[in-house]
Amino acid sequence: MANSVSFDTRKAVDFVIVGSGSAGGILAKELSTAGFDVVVLEQGPYRRPADFSHDEYSVVILEEMADFGNVNSRQTFRHDDSEVAVQTMRQPAGYAQTVGGSSVHYTANFWRFREIDFKERSVHGPISGTNFADWPISYADLEPYYTKVDWEIGVSGAPGPNDAWRSKPYPMPPMPIKSSGVLLERGANKLGLTAQPEPLAILSQPFNGRMPCMNCGYCMWFGCEHGAKSSTLSAMIPLAEASGHCEIRPNSAVFRVELDERGRASEVLYYDIDGNERGQRAKAVILAANGAESARLLLLSESSRFPDGLANSSGYVGRNFMYNAHAGAFGVFPEPLNDYKGVQVTRIIHDYYETDEKRGFYGGGGIDARPLFSAHPIMHALLSMPPDVPGWGKAFKDEMAWNFTRQMTIVASTTSLAMDRNNITLDPESTDRWGRPAIRVTYRDHPDDLAMAAFLQDRSMELLDAAGADKSWRLPLEPTSFGYHLLGTARMGDDPRTSVVDAEHRSHDVPNLFICDGSSFVTSGRGQPTMTIMALAFRAADRIGAAAAAGEI
Ligand SMILES: Cc1cc2nc3c(=O)[nH]c(=O)nc-3n(C[C@H](O)[C@H](O)[C@H](O)COP(=O)(O)OP(=O)(O)OC[C@H]3O[C@@H](n4cnc5c(N)ncnc54)[C@H](O)[C@@H]3O)c2cc1C
Ligand code: SF4
Repeated sequence: MANSVSFDTRKAVDFVIVGSGSAGGILAKELSTAGFDVVVLEQGPYRRPADFSHDEYSVVILEEMADFGNVNSRQTFRHDDSEVAVQTMRQPAGYAQTVGGSSVHYTANFWRFREIDFKERSVHGPISGTNFADWPISYADLEPYYTKVDWEIGVSGAPGPNDAWRSKPYPMPPMPIKSSGVLLERGANKLGLTAQPEPLAILSQPFNGRMPCMNCGYCMWFGCEHGAKSSTLSAMIPLAEASGHCEIRPNSAVFRVELDERGRASEVLYYDIDGNERGQRAKAVILAANGAESARLLLLSESSRFPDGLANSSGYVGRNFMYNAHAGAFGVFPEPLNDYKGVQVTRIIHDYYETDEKRGFYGGGGIDARPLFSAHPIMHALLSMPPDVPGWGKAFKDEMAWNFTRQMTIVASTTSLAMDRNNITLDPESTDRWGRPAIRVTYRDHPDDLAMAAFLQDRSMELLDAAGADKSWRLPLEPTSFGYHLLGTARMGDDPRTSVVDAEHRSHDVPNLFICDGSSFVTSGRGQPTMTIMALAFRAADRIGAAAAAGEI
């Protein structure tokens, strides 16, 4: 669909939203359908479903949607400040640059937080060396918006025994169970655990005029040609554009938010596709560029009023970066599983969700089963082969042919603790094509994060054994050096000294600047943060829209 409206850059629109991803797409739809004039500046192109391909080399290896040519977003990585940050094999802060953002290529595992997630600091007490804190909101505050995500974005699932309460059932049943789900259930039953249907932002039935999943198997990393994956590209942006109040402006790389003489955000500066400098005036600005890029943009927008970065009087912009730790265990089974078909995950074990002080460390997580790399042949060959097989020759090929259909991976997703030392800063050396300093990621897992991942990897090996695997082995448990969950760098809180935005996502320092995306997180949850990012976006849109209507912005 073509844009139904195009706004004059010199006239202030009601809202400029930076980023059209999981949060930005929802904010755009909610505010424009409420009658506000909205311009969405998105650095990536406007890819339509017909543009998505099944080319594993381009999509997965070259990370074309993440723009791994580092055109807009060069990134470097180091474990701590004693190291010089370098460019790495994969983007340390991985995300998609495209209209719809990372919701276009995510795997769509969609867990709600539980009540405990919002108040863990009160329950478990402080953790030395960390900024472990409670959220300024509760599960009850967010529950209506989780329900909105279920019913407006489109989530399939069925309640599990330990889930948080919900005010409305899922709008559609879970996706049919796959071989990996059956085997996870078998292992869980033997070990006294529960494998419940995985909630997915994927349609199991026709929904809101969209087609259900066709089980093509090109899900994780790929865009869905059928629109069955519930990205904001499929579910929100068409509604925003149809409102007549929303212009999506692709290929617009924002480099600065300008303030007026009163200290209010007045204009957003960006490069268009030809590198021309442009500006869009606005009455209010919302950053939804994700947990890495929103922080970079605030740091880039320093001024004499905010020498350490816009809205950064607390010094908390960029700090407390969290990824969610992960662990993997591979198993090969005697019979073909053919697990490369369909969605990645159909069953999840949440028995280890809560922190158990008897374990001796903080943390919790979920364990699922999926083809992971064995969904596609190149990744299978590169990353899924047993350690005792030679890396070339006939033995390698025979093993690959045998394993491809018989293999599954148990993936554990876990907590990460918020710390000063894990952060997003501006790289002093490296720049992107526009000359903007690169994102520099500094990250070293907290010992509790690694202990939790190791604990769940041990449970994963037991599950593979109980499920009847002929052979199993572990993915090396290395310190995290890249990730797709980009959280915590402009955290919400009531205290302006220790947070960047308030519970309504309004910056403590600039009254008409809002930040709403993964950066708003106070704690990391257990993995799969996007359901919560989207619920926060629906809630923020409600609050911001009400404040604007009341003349309070
Ligand atoms: C392969 C993969 C699998 C994943 N699987 C899951 C999963 O199963 N479950 C789950 O919960 N999460 C998953 N995620 C993570 C999920 O995609 C993100 O948590 C979520 O999309 C983040 O939402 P966001 O709104 O914070 O940012 P994004 O969705 O990343 O949106 C940010 C947008 O802002 C744009 N932008 C950034 N900077 C600028 C700028 N300066 N100017 C203009 N535009 C800008 C970006 O191009 C992007 O479109 C996965 C991610 C990947 C990559
Ligand atoms: S498996 Fe289903 S949801 Fe995933 S890309 Fe294919 S059709 Fe879309």
